[in-house]
Amino acid sequence: MPVPLLDVNAQNLPLQEELRETFDRVLQSGRFIMGEEMEAFESEVAQMVGAKHAISVSSGTDAILLALMALEIGPGDEVLCPSFTFFATAGCIARTGATPVFVDSCPVCFNIDVNDAKRKLSSKTKAIIPVHLFGQSAAMDEVLAFAGENSLRVIEDGAQAIGAKYKGKAVGTLGDFGTYSFFPSKNLGGFGDAGMLVTNDSQLAEKALMLRNHGMQPKYYHKYVGGNFRCDALQAALLRVKLREYHHYTAKRQANAEYYLEHLLRIDGIEQASASDCGCFEQQNAQLKASQAKLVLPVAYEYNEHIWNQFTIRVLDGKREALRQYLIESGIGCDTYYPVPLHQQECFSGLASTGLPICEQLAGEVISIPIYPELTKEQKDEVIEAITDFIAAD
Ligand SMILES: *Cc1c(COP(=O)(O)O)cnc(C)c1O
Repeated sequence: MPVPLLDVNAQNLPLQEELRETFDRVLQSGRFIMGEEMEAFESEVAQMVGAKHAISVSSGTDAILLALMALEIGPGDEVLCPSFTFFATAGCIARTGATPVFVDSCPVCFNIDVNDAKRKLSSKTKAIIPVHLFGQSAAMDEVLAFAGENSLRVIEDGAQAIGAKYKGKAVGTLGDFGTYSFFPSKNLGGFGDAGMLVTNDSQLAEKALMLRNHGMQPKYYHKYVGGNFRCDALQAALLRVKLREYHHYTAKRQANAEYYLEHLLRIDGIEQASASDCGCFEQQNAQLKASQAKLVLPVAYEYNEHIWNQFTIRVLDGKREALRQYLIESGIGCDTYYPVPLHQQECFSGLASTGLPICEQLAGEVISIPIYPELTKEQKDEVIEAITDFIAAD
C-alpha cells in the first residue's frame, strides 16, 4: 500500500456532510467577504491560542506582510530571520523594502540560533522573525530577551505551528505579532489559501485591521496605504468545522511521532538528537561525530509542545538522496524541507550573507516522512520497515 506524504482527503472527507451544510449556509447568506463567519472564526482561534486579538487574512504570507506593515518596517531597516525556513518569511521582509538578514539554525530543533542573531545585529535592525519550524517552538525566552535588550519587534512565524506551546503558552502569542497559515498542508489545513494574525496589543490590532482592508476607516477614507488581505467568509466557515476537530489531529500527529521514535530508535545506526534545549548543539554535534549514527531523529524539547507539522530526519554521510530514492521506490512519500537555504536563493544573491554553515548542512541532510494524523498502523509500519531495510543494506 503506498503511503503518501499527506492525504488531505483522509481528513476532509469524513467531514463532508458538515462541510456541505456549511457551504450551503454561506451560499444562502449571500455574505462572502468578512461578516459573521469570519468574526466567529477569529474569536474561536483567539480563544484556542489565548490571544486578545485574531485577525484572519488571505494567507500565512499576507499575515507576515501585514505584521511588518503594521510595525512600519520598510526601506533602510534590517530584519533578522532564519535562512532555513520557507521563502515567505524572508520574502515578506524584502517586499516591504527592508533587508532580510539571515541567521543560522540549531541542528537539533532546526530553529533560529539566537547566538548567531546577536552576531548579526546592527544599528539598522528593527525586528526579528523567529519561525516555529516543523511544529516546534523556537527558543522564545532567548529571542524575547535579545529583542528586549535591543528594542526589536518580534513577529513569530507560526505558519507550521498553530496550537504548539512554549513553556505552556501558545506560539504566536509571545511576540508583538504571531502569524498562522491554513494552507492545505499545514496542521489546520483549509480549502484554499487563508491565514491569521494574532496580537495582544490593541493598538497594533487596530492598525492591522485597517491595513487588511486598504487602510480604510470609515468607508472610503484611507488613513494608511493598506491592501486587500481579507479572508473569505467561505474559507472561515469551513475552517471552523475543522477547528473543532483540531485537538484530535494534533494528538494523532503526536502519537505518530511517538510511534516512529519508539520503533526506529531500536535500530542500530539510528539515534535521536539529544540536546535538552536549543543552544547546546555544539555538544550535540560532537556527540554525533563520536557515534556511528547514520540517521538522526527529531526531538521535542521537554518544555515544548511539538505539533509535528513535519517529522524531519537528518541523513548523515551524504546519503539523503539515496534514502529519498529508496523511499520513493518503496511507495513512501517524502520530501525535503528545504533543499536550498534562503541566502543561496537567486533573488537574494545581492545580499552579503555570511556565517550560515549549519543551515547549509541541514539543507543537504534533511528529509521529512509521512506524519499526518490519519496514517494507519500498517502505513507507519511500512515507513519504519523501509527505513530499516535502507539502513541494513547500507
Ligand atoms: C506555509 C508557510 C508560510 C506561508 O503561508 P501561506 O499560507 O502558504 O502563505 C510562511 N512561513 C512558513 C514557515 C510556512 O511554512
